[in-house]
Amino acid sequence: MFGLPVSRGVAIGRAVLVASSRVDVAHYFIDPGQAEAEIGRLRRARDEVAAELVALKEDVPEEAHAELVALLDVHLMMLHDETLAEATKQWIEERHYNAEWAMSAQLEVLARQFDEMEDDYLRERKADLEQVVERVLKAMTRSARGAGGGEVVPSARDFAGEDPLVLVANDIAPADMLQFKRSVFTGFVTDVGGRTSHTAIVARGLDIPAVVGAREASRLVRQDDWLVIDGDEGVLIVNPSPIVLEEYRFRQRQAELERARLDRLRNKPSVTLDGQRVDLLANIELPVDAAAAIAAGAVGVGLFRSEFLFMNRGGRLPDEEEQFEAYRDVVTALGGLPVTIRTVDIGADKPLDRLTAHEQRHEHMLNPALGLRAIRWSLSEPDMFAEQLRAILRASAYGKVRILIPMVAHHAEILQIRQALDAAKAQLTRGGQPFTDVDLGAMIEIPAAALMMPSLLRHFDFVSIGTNDLIQYTLAIDRADEAVAHLYDPWHPAVLQLVSQTIAHANAMGKGVSVCGEMAGDPAFTELLLAMGLRSFSMHPAQVASIKQRVLRADTRSLQSALLRVLAADSPQEACRTQMGAR
Ligand code: PEP
Ligand code: MG
Repeated sequence: MFGLPVSRGVAIGRAVLVASSRVDVAHYFIDPGQAEAEIGRLRRARDEVAAELVALKEDVPEEAHAELVALLDVHLMMLHDETLAEATKQWIEERHYNAEWAMSAQLEVLARQFDEMEDDYLRERKADLEQVVERVLKAMTRSARGAGGGEVVPSARDFAGEDPLVLVANDIAPADMLQFKRSVFTGFVTDVGGRTSHTAIVARGLDIPAVVGAREASRLVRQDDWLVIDGDEGVLIVNPSPIVLEEYRFRQRQAELERARLDRLRNKPSVTLDGQRVDLLANIELPVDAAAAIAAGAVGVGLFRSEFLFMNRGGRLPDEEEQFEAYRDVVTALGGLPVTIRTVDIGADKPLDRLTAHEQRHEHMLNPALGLRAIRWSLSEPDMFAEQLRAILRASAYGKVRILIPMVAHHAEILQIRQALDAAKAQLTRGGQPFTDVDLGAMIEIPAAALMMPSLLRHFDFVSIGTNDLIQYTLAIDRADEAVAHLYDPWHPAVLQLVSQTIAHANAMGKGVSVCGEMAGDPAFTELLLAMGLRSFSMHPAQVASIKQRVLRADTRSLQSALLRVLAADSPQEACRTQMGAR
């Protein structure tokens, strides 16, 4: 099967099918000696739900709601059905899955069987089964929380000795992707999504092989199938032959060797052959990522996507204090290196709750990418924006902080941003809270912003080019939509013109400019961006070493002379290869 390659490398493992709505179910291995206790937990949850259903049944007068009573009977029957109970136990005993995971794994198996039924009535019972399982899962979550257990997501080392696992889902929301940081999965495949959808971006940040937009994958792959994910080519192989498997295992080993080689560049300064210093910065999503940024040898954080602090919170957003602590932690961890905090970029494919872009489109918003997102959302929530600005300013007392505003396009917005920032500073001063000077930057991700650079630059200290959105809005291609993913082209001459002009304007006015979209971490663009005059790249920590390798081998003098030819070419990608030696 083919999809879009979004995160490099090869993963080999058994398929774990998870419904999109249940990606957040805890997935971890239990100690084999705990199987009995885990089955006990399952039994207690089942008894609790049975009592709930019986109580519900007693509450409805049978004469008035015969249908509802019959339905509750069906649910009770399913709850006690042996195919569900026994098989769930087996997942726990034989595979050492935790109870929630075992239950949802079995649900996937049964759901397939329902889908294949001829009889309409029986086929529709799938929804009932899902409701019953949902109730049991909720009961288990309640009891885990009640026992003070909170979120139990053990780290990867807990599954030594088990087969590696690959997650297969129709879609994964960006917020759910964050769980992968500590999950048991070594790769994932989704049916939907584009190359720079936020789900793909988080995967790249985690440096785990992934294929998105594989269309039918979650329908065709079966629970437990062996899978090979080729994250370089966007290929998914189901139950590979031994020869194919051996080939991919070889490639896995090669990639490990290459990684070890690149690791040695970590402490080397990033300077071109002709002595140009190039800053390689890190993109991060959560404060814990700061460690990876440092370990990768990044010279600062070029993009802290603060919106990830706002996700999965059941409606309660982080207040000023909580945000301040998160920002301060990153600033302190970076020990004096600059930290660029982007104000929340909520909306489009990053909703506050767990809706994915696809669900949003179908549920209520026609065109979330063109709607109330990023700075538009912040300006529509002035209290929240003020809290965030104060939290960031307060963190500036601990190191070097810069504020970055996403999706700026209008002068009226710039004035509002300036006023909000002045007001936040005045409030802190009145309250005696310390802060230092922070540079204010704009993301260039709407063509309008790129085309008004000279006037825009009068109001900002620096700019950062968000190529992911700049491509989406220049080419009118939804970055999260796999149906048009083939047209999402970072090499499009119009995109390159906008990037090139933005860099040239900023350099001419002596203002800082960097690229923080995925283009910055793609080695195919390093020479071209250097030729355009870019000296600051921000990317996933895992990409820093391979970009540094390109920088060390580049000579900007010879690259510059080829720039105009590449920009004027019908196929800039081809021209870049022949004229700049880029691969
Ligand atoms: C971009 O648009 O390129 C960018 C860096 O921001 P995000 O991917 O978070 O939208
Ligand atoms: Mg963006």
